[in-house]
Amino acid sequence: MKNAIISFVSQLAEPKQIAWLQLLSTKLPNECVKLDKDLSAEEKLQCEIAIVADPDPIILSQYSNLIWAQSLWAGVDNLVSKLTYDKSTPKFKLVRLIDPILAQTMSEAVLTWVLYLHRDMPKYLRQQKLAVWQQHNYFLPQERTVGILGLGELGKLSALRLNQNGFNVLGWSQSEKLINGVRCYCEHDGLVTMVKQCNILICLLPLTSSTYQLIDNDLLKNLPQGASFINFARGGIVANDDLIKNLDNGHLEHAILDVFEQEPLNENDSFWSHDKITVLPHISAATHVESAGKVAANNIKNFRKSAQLPVHIDWQKGY
Ligand code: NAP
Repeated sequence: MKNAIISFVSQLAEPKQIAWLQLLSTKLPNECVKLDKDLSAEEKLQCEIAIVADPDPIILSQYSNLIWAQSLWAGVDNLVSKLTYDKSTPKFKLVRLIDPILAQTMSEAVLTWVLYLHRDMPKYLRQQKLAVWQQHNYFLPQERTVGILGLGELGKLSALRLNQNGFNVLGWSQSEKLINGVRCYCEHDGLVTMVKQCNILICLLPLTSSTYQLIDNDLLKNLPQGASFINFARGGIVANDDLIKNLDNGHLEHAILDVFEQEPLNENDSFWSHDKITVLPHISAATHVESAGKVAANNIKNFRKSAQLPVHIDWQKGY
């Protein structure tokens, strides 16, 4: 029997949708992948699988017989919150992108910006602007403690990469973890114990109802004097005013922010001109199109062969 159509549901600009469609059709020669807009209402009802990239949740809910949807993005917080806003649970499963290439890219970003902070680049940049010739003490990597919030697909590899580069690495997650060379903590007591030791704190948590504004003044004040903060996860996890307060009062040395509650960041936002903040335009780990297409295609091929669903998000937990 012929496989049912797979729908590509997305709000990306049409040329981007067509490029994805061509890639997915090449990787899935035995499947019929079509854009949502080209499907009749009857064809939508026959779809068991959708591939999604920033889909309109209302359109996605027209697929009443969907078994699962493969996201081409790793972070699905926006889609999850829209699909569960009334506390209902969609009937289909949502599979987010788990791609080793993406984890490599994120771990590279983590290492890059940790080295930037470790070698005091923000201080030297400020000094250059004022023509100040001043040398600061050098510390060995093993004398710097770096803590990672979130030890999932991205956090775990980042922790290992930092450890390979000599840093003293700590990590925090929901459940207990054992990672070679990384001291792991969990639960709220573990969070405070870890944060108290970190010279650099990195956020790689998903945005959920439990992590919304988790990084607030109460948490930041536990960091040692002169610590720095990196957010590569989602803007909503940080209480911005509390972060600014801790930078302005000298408790924190620097913050590197790649993600914001509103993106693109408004051109009038004070983050742009704050001399203790580095603003990045959400670039720490972009989806690698070729690799993401391969991951999605393999998940679909495995499902057709074994009827086994790929690892999917827990609607209740939100990740
Ligand atoms: P993941 O595999 O789902 O891992 C999430 C980690 O966070 C897990 O270790 C989980 O603990 C932990 N966690 C979740 N809620 C928690 C809580 N309330 N308390 C303590 N720990 C909690 O996610 P991932 O693939 O590593 O991605 C992390 C995030 O990175 C994504 O959600 C996305 O927002 C962001 N991201 C950003 C970019 C970018 O370019 N800036 C690119 C890709 C992804 P358990 O292991 O115990 O479940």
